[in-house]
Amino acid sequence: MSARTRSYWIAKAKLAGFVWFFGTGAGLMLGGYTTCHYAQTQITPRSVSVSGYTRANGTYVAPYSRRPPGAVRHDAPYELLSVLGGLVFVGGLTVSAYIVYILLTRSLVDLIPPNHEEIALGPPPQVEGLPTNSAVSNRDYYSCCICSASIPIGDIYWFAGRARSPSVKRHCAACKEKLTLQARVSLAEYEKRLAAIREQYRRKYPLLDRND
Ligand SMILES: [Zn+2]
Repeated sequence: MSARTRSYWIAKAKLAGFVWFFGTGAGLMLGGYTTCHYAQTQITPRSVSVSGYTRANGTYVAPYSRRPPGAVRHDAPYELLSVLGGLVFVGGLTVSAYIVYILLTRSLVDLIPPNHEEIALGPPPQVEGLPTNSAVSNRDYYSCCICSASIPIGDIYWFAGRARSPSVKRHCAACKEKLTLQARVSLAEYEKRLAAIREQYRRKYPLLDRND
């Protein structure tokens, strides 16, 4: 086994929590087996039931249980213990088998948790809807939808979408600049934050950069 292969399997085992799972499974198996084995050695023959009969002198003897020789105190307790021990053993076997199965069937990338911070950050801020189209004012009553400054005939105004739409919002040049700058800043902040989140994630899971 090469050093690379070994580090690959160690990384997988760490991500899958192999030591914890396998340790727990093995512990349960050992405990279950020991309990079961102990119970098995304690089980003694069951009582024998004797049906009722009438003695030669006429007295009736009611049915009763007779314990076989060897001072048997209980019938069931050790059998119950044996079953419980067996169940614990099977549980431990299942846990151990599960983690071995996971380790053998999942790739390294499968075992790396998703980048929750990146998911929480969400999509980049909207830059659509910015007033990027321009036209020349041809009415004397046009005004900026933000600062209310009038846009005299002959001046350029800015809008998003179609100019002829009745709901068109006209922006003066200054407000358009401000909006565009704000959008750029928030996008830049978003990208900076995203890069930091990804860098942190890459440092936490350096194996992601490998091609295996
Ligand atoms: Zn304005």
